[in-house]
Amino acid sequence: MASASTATFSFELYPPRSEAAEASLFASLEHLAAAGPEFISVTYGANGSSREHSLAVLRHLMNSTSVHPMAHLTCVGSSYEEASRLIREFLDAGITSFLALRGDPPKGVEEGENFLGDIGSAGELVQLIHRVQAERVPFTFGEVPGFPGAKRLRSGEKVTIAVAAFPNGHPRSRSVDQDIDTLLAKEAAGANLAISQLFFRADDYLGFVERARAAGLGMRILPGIMPVPSPRRLDRILELSGEADPTELRARLESVASPEEQARIGVEHASELASDLLAGGADGIHLYTFNQHEAVLDVLGNVGLLDTRQKETA
Ligand code: FAD
Repeated sequence: MASASTATFSFELYPPRSEAAEASLFASLEHLAAAGPEFISVTYGANGSSREHSLAVLRHLMNSTSVHPMAHLTCVGSSYEEASRLIREFLDAGITSFLALRGDPPKGVEEGENFLGDIGSAGELVQLIHRVQAERVPFTFGEVPGFPGAKRLRSGEKVTIAVAAFPNGHPRSRSVDQDIDTLLAKEAAGANLAISQLFFRADDYLGFVERARAAGLGMRILPGIMPVPSPRRLDRILELSGEADPTELRARLESVASPEEQARIGVEHASELASDLLAGGADGIHLYTFNQHEAVLDVLGNVGLLDTRQKETA
């Protein structure tokens, strides 16, 4: 079991859609970066974000902070050639961590329609990222310890390729077994980290991890947690994720009227969830930030993942 002091934490952001939103995100980023996350991931395609907007945030992370950036990539609408070019562009920008996703249908397109292009699943995208990376840097020269000036041939730089996991099942999958099989296939394709869809009960995640391990999955599965600040935001999250309505959280949020009180309840719920997950064996947590720092840093403070100095700068 991971103790709070050894557990990692990471954040997810989305590219801002206006100059004012960008200024506000960059201000929040200073606080998020100062907390010392394992990485910060930036969504792609979600909420209408595009390649340029995602790359701009990733570049800002690399140039203005010491945080390791992770780029989300999707399969939506790309030929092999376009997808390979895009991956090369991200690698050239210095990105070595990716979250490979199938992606959701663009607005107005139904699930059944063909919206993907040449790459049909996240697993195929994982393979393509590895292939592009291997072709780009087939080998490097490394130092030989104890022999100054000597060089040794090493195989290419390793990339981190994360994939999505669904503790309560992807809305389109027929059973949890199908989700575990998909995750195993993504690991076999070369994925080395999983990040979960959000969920509201610790047992949803802990039971899923147990079944995935029993099926032979080796990679880490980081639980995705979101402090939900209002009933309205909860509706939107459920619409996007397809998760079942967490009636107990909804009742707590609806039991108070002021936005501040509701936000406090969202943080309280996320902190209880994170604490149960860490106690149950999770070795890290991944926080969905909604591009704001206060709530997620409060959660980390509540579960003992921020040291005193960080609490002061937060
Ligand atoms: P896959 O691994 O290819 O499939 C996942 C599961 O869905 C499998 O169980 C598979 O069998 C099942 N499945 C998929 N399609 C069908 C189908 N048609 N019929 C039956 N079963 C099906 N989306 C974005 O556009 N941009 C982002 O930046 C983004 N970030 C995300 C971050 C996280 C942590 C998560 C959990 C999701 C994110 N998504 C994002 C959403 C994601 O693209 C969708 O959930 C998508 O529907 C599935 O992607 P996947 O990579 O899991 O797909």
